[in-house]
Amino acid sequence: MIGTSWRREQGPADPLLRKMLAERGLDNVPQWTKKDDVRTAASEYWLSRGKDRDGPVNPDKREITDTLHITEEVKAKALELGANLVGCCALTPTMIDEGFDMPHRNVFAFILAEDYGNVLKGSLAIEAETYEVYMRIADIATDLATFIRDMGYPAWAHHNGALQIQAIPTMYQCGLGELGRHGSLINPTYAANFRPGFVTTNLPVLYDSPLEFGVQDYCRNCKICRNNCPGDAIATDHIVTEGIKRWRIDMEKCYPFSRLHDAYCHICVDVCPYVHKENGDTEKRTMYGAYMKRRKQDGYRSPNRLRYEEED
Ligand code: SF4
Ligand code: SF4
Repeated sequence: MIGTSWRREQGPADPLLRKMLAERGLDNVPQWTKKDDVRTAASEYWLSRGKDRDGPVNPDKREITDTLHITEEVKAKALELGANLVGCCALTPTMIDEGFDMPHRNVFAFILAEDYGNVLKGSLAIEAETYEVYMRIADIATDLATFIRDMGYPAWAHHNGALQIQAIPTMYQCGLGELGRHGSLINPTYAANFRPGFVTTNLPVLYDSPLEFGVQDYCRNCKICRNNCPGDAIATDHIVTEGIKRWRIDMEKCYPFSRLHDAYCHICVDVCPYVHKENGDTEKRTMYGAYMKRRKQDGYRSPNRLRYEEED
């Protein structure tokens, strides 16, 4: 199956970001060039795990007569390895990078939650948490792929060190959440405070269905992420692509904060009320209240770059 979805390149390989870097006289993304042992160690780790994404398939293939049972067995393994939630679906060309020839027909998607408490500790703490989560994802995906190959079926891990899967359409079809105005998938338990990993395979499985629980109706009136975005990058009006409603992020406005600022921007996700809205988590609701109080004191209703820059 040949993939059809364009993937945004990272760093100077992205033409828009390269242009913006050149306008500022920079050779590379400031976050990447600053002396940051946490980031360096994390990216080296997940790249090294990428070399183990594939491996020998057990020649003694397990006969599968009950796809529900085998699906549940793999999902249970993903949870045992540390994933918070897992789903699976049939791959489609839109879930695969443009031009990539994927030899598998099914995919497991799993998510690993970020520690929401870090929003109160600032952008550097959030950044470190993200790298840590991506390292654990590389481990889970690698071990889950090995688990499936040991059953006698081919499987590849997909994570930051080796990836041809498009996260949003795959997670949506696997029933892990609904697309929010901020461009990330929202899950009833974890909101958008999570990171994904994937395993593609030819193991026969029972598919999940998309999960819709009213997020997009809520986003129509909410706009909190939009009002808090320091770059004013989140759209007011939605568009529809392939039957799915979504709001565009203007990357030229987002990049000064998410790429060209010397610390990571995670604000649109952190201000989303779904972090406590569906799950009734009172601890997160209290943290959210404290965080939003601080945002309000910083004048969040009028996006203001200078105030954001002073925050760090
Ligand atoms: S990452 Fe920051 S700048 Fe980019 S859309 Fe989200 S809040 Fe706005
Ligand atoms: S902050 Fe509000 S508008 Fe933005 S994604 Fe979350 S619920 Fe939707």
